[in-house]
Amino acid sequence: MTDLFVGMDIGGTKLVAGAATADGKLVGEATTPTPQRLRPQEVVDGLIDLANLAIRKAGAIWKEVRAVGVSFGGPVDFGRELTITCHHLPGWSRVPLTKVVKTKLQLPVIMDNNANTAALGESRFGAGQGIENLLYVTVGSGIGAGLILGGKVFRGASGLAGELGHTIFRPSGPVCACGRKGCIEAMASGKAIAHIAKTRLAECKDASILRHGDAKGLDARAVAQAAEKGDKLALTVILEATDALGQGIAAALNLLDLPLVLIGGGVANAGEVFFSPLREAVKRYAVPEIADEAKILPAQLGDRASLLGAIAMAVDYKDEG
Ligand SMILES: [Zn+2]
Repeated sequence: MTDLFVGMDIGGTKLVAGAATADGKLVGEATTPTPQRLRPQEVVDGLIDLANLAIRKAGAIWKEVRAVGVSFGGPVDFGRELTITCHHLPGWSRVPLTKVVKTKLQLPVIMDNNANTAALGESRFGAGQGIENLLYVTVGSGIGAGLILGGKVFRGASGLAGELGHTIFRPSGPVCACGRKGCIEAMASGKAIAHIAKTRLAECKDASILRHGDAKGLDARAVAQAAEKGDKLALTVILEATDALGQGIAAALNLLDLPLVLIGGGVANAGEVFFSPLREAVKRYAVPEIADEAKILPAQLGDRASLLGAIAMAVDYKDEG
């Protein structure tokens, strides 16, 4: 019998469950689109069905499972084991998710938000292997971050450490999803990049490849692709976004002097057209010696980072518990 660990990932677009060995080797995985109208209890039932399927695919049985890690796509009250809210699904305010899963499975269960799980996943099994201290930033429709210090997730006093996306850098800037103005998320997330590009296109008459496509469906990927082709308007938008994100990362680096910053999420797939100005921005704003030491690299695990991180959390939790 092998010791197995189950990870469950509740994301905005899909639910995933995976079974893995302690070294992060996935032996079974199952996924389904996130049901948009179901109540938390029904989502949990769906996740457990997926976990059953993943375990079956692995040719294993539940008796081999030692612990379960849950990655939640929204802020989590880690100490009280509650979800705080979910930005994608209704009905997730203060849900005792850990307890619900624990009661169903009768196994040790640990839950955290998906920025922390992804940070741990990258640190343990991805681009951060062998690095004790790192910052992971996910740039997708929002901006999340997770901090790994001494090989472990640093959660802070209220469990919310890593709210880099809601650091305000321009108080007169655009309104953020959190209700305040000028957060990095409102200036540099995928959503913000698309929004700023659309606004620029409407405001000015400059030639741009972006005018040829479907204006409504314009997204950050299209902006990055246009920037790669040398489109001036798109390049300006990417420069502004990376400038804002670079300020945030530089502040974190000045505070913690970390050797590694990993960038995950959809926008990070844009490649050098995004990374090159981001590195320059960090150099502009951070203490030079600190910026020289810090590598800024793309994450490696893609959308599996949070699932693998949930599994790593389950492995540690079993050892600690
Ligand atoms: Zn905000």
